[in-house]
Amino acid sequence: MVSCVHAAVAVLVLLTELAAAAPVKVAIVGGGIGGTAAAFFLQQLQPAWHVELFERERLGGRAEELFLDGRTLELGASIIHAQNHYVLSLAKEMGLTPIQGDDTGDAFSIYDGSSFVFSQSGSQVRDTLAVLHRYGISPLRYKWLAEEMGRRFSRLYDLHGAGQAFATPQQLWEAVGLFNLTQQSAADYMQAHLAHGVLRYGAAAFIEELAGAVNRINYNQRNAGMNALAGLVSYLPAAQPEVYSLQEGNAALPRKLAAAAKLQALHLGTAVQAGSAIELQGVLPPGAVLPKREYQSTVTTYVTGALNPSYFKVPSLPAGDIFVTSSADTLFSVIASKGTVSGSTARPSSSSHAYEDGQPVAVHQQQQQQLWKVFSQQPLSEDLLQQLFFNSTVIISKPWKAYPRFKPPEVFAPFSLSPGLCYNNALENGASAMEVSAVAAMNCALLLQQQLSPSSTSQVNSGSSSSSSSSSSSCSGSSGSSSAKRHPAGNGAGSSSVGVSVS
Ligand SMILES: Cc1cc2nc3c(=O)[nH]c(=O)nc-3n(C[C@H](O)[C@H](O)[C@H](O)COP(=O)(O)OP(=O)(O)OC[C@H]3O[C@@H](n4cnc5c(N)ncnc54)[C@H](O)[C@@H]3O)c2cc1C
Repeated sequence: MVSCVHAAVAVLVLLTELAAAAPVKVAIVGGGIGGTAAAFFLQQLQPAWHVELFERERLGGRAEELFLDGRTLELGASIIHAQNHYVLSLAKEMGLTPIQGDDTGDAFSIYDGSSFVFSQSGSQVRDTLAVLHRYGISPLRYKWLAEEMGRRFSRLYDLHGAGQAFATPQQLWEAVGLFNLTQQSAADYMQAHLAHGVLRYGAAAFIEELAGAVNRINYNQRNAGMNALAGLVSYLPAAQPEVYSLQEGNAALPRKLAAAAKLQALHLGTAVQAGSAIELQGVLPPGAVLPKREYQSTVTTYVTGALNPSYFKVPSLPAGDIFVTSSADTLFSVIASKGTVSGSTARPSSSSHAYEDGQPVAVHQQQQQQLWKVFSQQPLSEDLLQQLFFNSTVIISKPWKAYPRFKPPEVFAPFSLSPGLCYNNALENGASAMEVSAVAAMNCALLLQQQLSPSSTSQVNSGSSSSSSSSSSSCSGSSGSSSAKRHPAGNGAGSSSVGVSVS
């Protein structure tokens, strides 16, 4: 009966499947990368299906840009790793421009809440020696583990390319040997793999300081609370720093995908809820309960000003970004240097507006100033801003329910809530990223195809390597066509409706 679909939920809902000749109708709830990629993949798999997309705000979801002084600043999802096959290939197919470079400055220091425990000097030789001295070869060993995770993740593209779909996230992660990582904490995993044996020198400091800082940056969470898969996903861009963002803004991808998906209708500003355009009732099996999930609050603040060394109790500050250790008790998770902005031309404009409690957040103009990007769990108070910066001006402050608050061992909702109903974001408890949502989107598109058009053999070209079916036999988790069921047409032609409560 309930019909509230929470933030960060992209759900595909079969509305009606009428007489055999009538096209299948699909409603997609959510216009982030997950929902729009699902629409696009469905269009490729089943061009005759009628797909409508419902989005309560604007297209983009947790990707949103701010154009400032000729630059594109990301407020939400910012980096796309070179191995993010779906997102990068879709971006290229949509004519967008990936530009290389990450979200941080050229150098960094790590702060533990009372002092700086590590600082880069800018000299590659000196910095390499300093890393070896403090962390031993733990960064290298963890890099290998992250790369192995990346290789396994990449097998999903072949499985999807061969038409494999999974009814649950557990089956999907198990098919590529990553499920166990979601069942243990990043802290335990790193401890087990790095902190024993003859090579353990520096491991404890590495886990707390370097790996911990990366987790605070990417997920605003500490090692102990993260699952090991999310920890490795978080570390991969540090291990293999070939990363991109889209010149047009990362939210341009969902916008382009929605346009390319040949939607029957796009309902913007339309929240799906009780009594709205699609009625969500009686879809879940009786007694079914979806696992509760909390989201981590992260506030993205772009602020200009000069950092105040005395806040950090040092006479002068090291150049570059300030990261924080896993357990640092700080009111920010990272302060990243973003160059300078010139006030005369700095009139920020956004493809949409940033909102806080339903109200647009403040946007100011500035003179030529150092620009910083700060992540924090709470909005930066006026008091904190005055302590951290000289002459600070907040350009924009955007609060997000950013990613799941990880909780290993992770408990996953199924993708397939009932035949014809697929829950994209079930996968996100493992790790949250645009690519993960795109993978889930492909999985939902394939699942729906198998459930509603089991005889179909069409495959998706875009974004899928689709080169091999050899790995399909290793896919123990595939729902396959054997589990395909047609949606029961018992609701009556033209008036059938399905419903779900997702929380
Ligand atoms: C600050 C921050 C930094 C991040 N950094 C990165 C990064 O560097 N790289 C990366 O890959 N990922 C990053 N992420 C994570 C990434 O943004 C998400 O994993 C991804 O965008 C999720 O996409 P989605 O489509 O699944 O969900 P969302 O983008 O949340 O889309 C869901 C959509 O559904 C809509 N919706 C919800 N309920 C309803 C309803 N009832 N009716 C209608 N519409 C509804 C919402 O308005 C939203 O548009 C970051 C996220 C944040 C917040």
